[in-house]
Amino acid sequence: MERGDVEVSSRSFAELTTLQVGGSPALVLSCRSAESVADVVRTLDAEGVPLLIVGGGSNLVVGDDVSDLVAVVLEDGGEPEIEEKTGLVRAFAGLVWDGVVAATVDAGLGGLECLSGIPGSVGATPVQNVGAYGAEVSQTLHRVQLFDRASGETSWVMPESLDLAYRYSNLKFTSRAVVTAVEFQLTTDGQSAPLRFGELARRLGVTAGEAGQDGDVRRPVAEVRDMVLELRRGKGMVLDPHDHDTWSAGSFFTNPVVDRAVADDVQRIVASTRGEQDAAAMPRFPAGPADAVDSLEKLSAAWLIERAGFSRGWHVPGNDRAGLSSKHTLALTNRGSATSADIVALARAVRDGVREAFGVALVPEPVWIGVTLDDE
Ligand SMILES: Cc1cc2nc3c(=O)[nH]c(=O)nc-3n(C[C@H](O)[C@H](O)[C@H](O)COP(=O)(O)OP(=O)(O)OC[C@H]3O[C@@H](n4cnc5c(N)ncnc54)[C@H](O)[C@@H]3O)c2cc1C
Repeated sequence: MERGDVEVSSRSFAELTTLQVGGSPALVLSCRSAESVADVVRTLDAEGVPLLIVGGGSNLVVGDDVSDLVAVVLEDGGEPEIEEKTGLVRAFAGLVWDGVVAATVDAGLGGLECLSGIPGSVGATPVQNVGAYGAEVSQTLHRVQLFDRASGETSWVMPESLDLAYRYSNLKFTSRAVVTAVEFQLTTDGQSAPLRFGELARRLGVTAGEAGQDGDVRRPVAEVRDMVLELRRGKGMVLDPHDHDTWSAGSFFTNPVVDRAVADDVQRIVASTRGEQDAAAMPRFPAGPADAVDSLEKLSAAWLIERAGFSRGWHVPGNDRAGLSSKHTLALTNRGSATSADIVALARAVRDGVREAFGVALVPEPVWIGVTLDDE
């Protein structure tokens, strides 16, 4: 192991995560190269020491009492390798995601611009197939380098082997492998990927006629990145240590994917409780694999949360340490002194409220360590 690549420190999960809650790991080992990550994980696994891989800590809810595991932190440092002519980009998993996006946009490469401003590390992006503004990282992945914890080997795999889907890969929740590097294949003509998100396209001045021609409207990458960052800031979705609305794990619940019959039921409930006009405006989109397109639909978690009676800034009565963001009902936030238990209480209240109102079970997006949303 290149010892200079690994640093030992003691930091709490409150310091390591963007929700800023959680106990303290037994030890923090920070790694700055793919080799050191593999060596550290191999050594800990051989000794049977429980460990947690941590990037930016922006998709983690860690319990207040967690103390028995080693946090292996993939640290930022270094630059991505960018081949401007071919559009191939290779990055160590520890690099800060948005730094890599910015570097590709500066190089005039297209494909990652809609994913600007997502917190966290490069290595975590395939883990939950990060997505925003009509794009998912799966659309640009070329190869993913994995350290396989069972075999102790590192190898490049094709994205197809990861079962990438909406906020999912077979790496999420399994801990079977560590992503040590990622390659992206981007486009080289300076234009963004086709704009697929209505609000973004409108704000970029795309007209209905233009969008209607072939649906493939593109814009210069830097223009799209700037607009995405502006939109995200307005929703508290860009980290800002001074803004408690960003002390979150981003969108806390995934958009529910339900049978069409369930979506019909929800719409009927909305019609009877809130009126036909509101019901007609209910967001519902085809979802799931192509052969199931007729039967599966994606609903909007934020819309359901609001219709269930939760407004921006809502908190559990008597506990304002944790609350919904004042900018976005889908972000559960630490208002400054929350514990993990406070976040869990808030999450349960929102989940239960939506279930009681519509019979829909919201599923949390972050990874839970040493704590659960299930009732005790
Ligand atoms: C303000 C805010 C906005 C957000 N917006 C979005 C958004 O628009 N779209 C979106 O998809 N997500 C969003 N997120 C969620 C989060 O930023 C992403 O999921 C991000 O990719 C997590 O990266 P991370 O490095 O912080 O992962 P961490 O939180 O450190 O880890 C998350 C999980 O992945 C595992 N993991 C991390 N790195 C690796 C690795 N190299 N190999 C294997 N496993 C690993 C961890 O063990 C853990 O289980 C947002 C979060 C916040 C706080």
